[in-house]
Amino acid sequence: MNISIVIPVFNEETNLDALISRCLESCSKINKPFEIILIDDGSADSSRIKIEEAAKKYPGKIVGVFLNRNYGQHAAVMAGFETSSGDVVITLDADLQNPPEEIPKLVEKMEEGFDVVGTIRKDRQDSLFRKLSSYLTNKIVQKYTGIMMHDYGCMLRAYKRNIIEAMLSCKEHSFFIPILANSFAKTTSEINVNHEKRLSGDSKYSFFKLINLYFDLLTSMSTLPLRFLTFLGTIISLFGIGFGCFLFLMRIIKGSAWAVGGVFTIFALLFILVGLQFIGMGLLGEYIGRIYNDVRSRPRYFIEKVIKDKSS
Ligand code: UDP
Ligand code: MG
Repeated sequence: MNISIVIPVFNEETNLDALISRCLESCSKINKPFEIILIDDGSADSSRIKIEEAAKKYPGKIVGVFLNRNYGQHAAVMAGFETSSGDVVITLDADLQNPPEEIPKLVEKMEEGFDVVGTIRKDRQDSLFRKLSSYLTNKIVQKYTGIMMHDYGCMLRAYKRNIIEAMLSCKEHSFFIPILANSFAKTTSEINVNHEKRLSGDSKYSFFKLINLYFDLLTSMSTLPLRFLTFLGTIISLFGIGFGCFLFLMRIIKGSAWAVGGVFTIFALLFILVGLQFIGMGLLGEYIGRIYNDVRSRPRYFIEKVIKDKSS
C-alpha cells in the first residue's frame, strides 16, 4: 500500500521547515512507501523556493507541484490528487493545525478497508465564529449527504484511490473536497485527532474568501436553497394576502383614518419583502455565476511545473 500525503501551501514560509521534517518523521514510521506532495498555490513569499529545495533534497519522498497563481485551497488539493499515485491519499494543512503525527493512525484505520476516513478535532483551536459556522455547516451537510460525519471542516482526511479517481473525473469548479468525496464513498469512518493553534502566520482565508468557500459548499451540495426560496416566497405571499384582507376589513369597520395610520406598517412590510427579494436574487446569482464558470469550462488550475524524482 503506497501512501500519498497532499498538502496545499499558500504563503507558509515560516511553517514549511517544521512541516516537512515532522511529516517525514511521521511517514517513515509507517514502514510503507510514501510521497509527500506539496502544492504551491501561487505563494508570494519564499514557500516556492523552499518546496523546490525540499523536492531536490528528498527525491522520491517530496514532490513539488507549482501552480502559476493562487487558485484556492481546494483547487490546489485537486492538483495534488492529479499528481499523486498512492493507494491511500491523505490531505493535511500546511499550518500544522493538523499534527502530522496523526498520519499513522489514519493509515491504520484505512487498512480496515474504508473508502474515506475523516477526523474529529479535539479542542479545536479556532475562533468562536469559525467554530459556530462549522457547527451549522456540519449539520446541513450531514442532512444532505446522509453520512453522519461530525467534522467536515477538518482537512486531515484519508481517501482510497478509487475515491480520488472519482473526484478527479468531476469537472465542476465549485467544490468542497470532503463533501465531494463522501458523495462517492460507500464506507466511511472517523478517528479523533488533536488540533493545534496555527504554528505561525495568519489564516489564509480572508472574510470574502471564507464567504466564497461557504457558498461553494452550499451550492455544490444541492439546489435545495432554491427550493427553500420558492417555499419562503409562497409563505410571504400568503401572509401578504391575509394581511391585505385584514386591512380591508379594518378599513370597513374602523373607517379610512385607521388605514392611513397603517401606511408605515405597509412601508415596513415593503422593505422586508424587497429585502427578501434581493436575498433570493443574490442566491440565484450565486448559482448562475457558478453555472457560468462551469459552462466556460476553463481549467480549474494550471500546473506550471512538477518536481518529482523517481530515482529512489
Ligand atoms: N491554502 C491554499 N490556498 C489558499 C488558502 C489556503 O493553499 O488560497 C492552504 C493554506 O496554506 C493551508 C490550508 O490551505 O495549508 C488551510 O488554510 P488556513 O490554515 O489558512 O485555513 P484555516 O485553518 O483558517 O481554515
Ligand atoms: Mg489553518
